[in-house]
Amino acid sequence: MKFFYSAAQDSHAPETFLLRGQPAPSPERPERALRLADAIDELGLTLNAPAEVDSPRLRDRLARIHTPRYLTFLETIHARWQAMPGASALVAPNVHPCGGGHHYPSHPVGQAGWHLHDMACPIGADSFAGILASAASAEAAAMSVCEGEPSAYALCRPPGHHAGPERAGGFCFLNNSALAATILRERHDRVAIVDVDLHHGNGTQDIFYARGDVWTGSVHADTDAFYPFFWGGADETGSGEGQGANVNLPLPLGSDGKVFLDAVETLLQRLDDFAPEAVVVALGLDAHKDDPLAGLALETEDFRKIGARLGQLSVPMVLIQEGGYPTAALGANLSAFLEGYLKR
Ligand SMILES: [Zn+2]
Repeated sequence: MKFFYSAAQDSHAPETFLLRGQPAPSPERPERALRLADAIDELGLTLNAPAEVDSPRLRDRLARIHTPRYLTFLETIHARWQAMPGASALVAPNVHPCGGGHHYPSHPVGQAGWHLHDMACPIGADSFAGILASAASAEAAAMSVCEGEPSAYALCRPPGHHAGPERAGGFCFLNNSALAATILRERHDRVAIVDVDLHHGNGTQDIFYARGDVWTGSVHADTDAFYPFFWGGADETGSGEGQGANVNLPLPLGSDGKVFLDAVETLLQRLDDFAPEAVVVALGLDAHKDDPLAGLALETEDFRKIGARLGQLSVPMVLIQEGGYPTAALGANLSAFLEGYLKR
């Protein structure tokens, strides 16, 4: 099993985001990667840097899951934002096309409102390089599995599963799990994404909703009263050729590990019907009881059980780091997951 991470990812380091209307320290900061990298190191495992953090091949693959104007926006918006008199240091929207918009604006303020779904995706001067490097780590992990490695892990920070075809949200800009699935799809006919993050993977769902070749499933805190609020219901089952290939299992807020593991089991039974040839795990660790985003109540040992269960899947697998925020337990949660998983 190979592990990937690029130090270039740290160049995305916004210090604040808006929480309940107030500027607050961002939990999605480089310290996360340090804690996760330390946990991998303590297991005696080695993180490899992706060979390239930007390439025409990576951009071509990203263009299969994100729109061209969104990719251009991510790359250019900070400079265009800064050119406005009185602009803030971080790009942050102050207007949104709620209910939908009729035309795509040329102005940076309008474009920020179009593409940045919420106030948890501030963009700084060096953010794009870090965002792209995070995707490059996902690409390297997926490539290694396509080349014969049984499984691989990418320490993706920033995370990706809230990022849709042309929308950033929830600390996510490029959908790393969708990218990994896209790469596995180059080699395999049927690919699945199993999302065990605390939050519903709404961006991933959006990207593959009408496709039958990439199955998406998510266990998460019920979005009736939890982020991302507007998606994540059990009645969202896919459309067109993707009908039946999207499975959501929302759990009551505060659910414990037993409830979560039972839901993972149900999700994997549904996955079995799809008979995937390769699987991406959207590996959030924020369902832990101490996570600052507080929604579920898993213990560290529950991640060992989740890892062990997913490790039983006898197909090539790519693990993509999603959420999980700085607490004393963050590193231990990844260690426990990997120890359980590596017994496969
Ligand atoms: Zn999350």
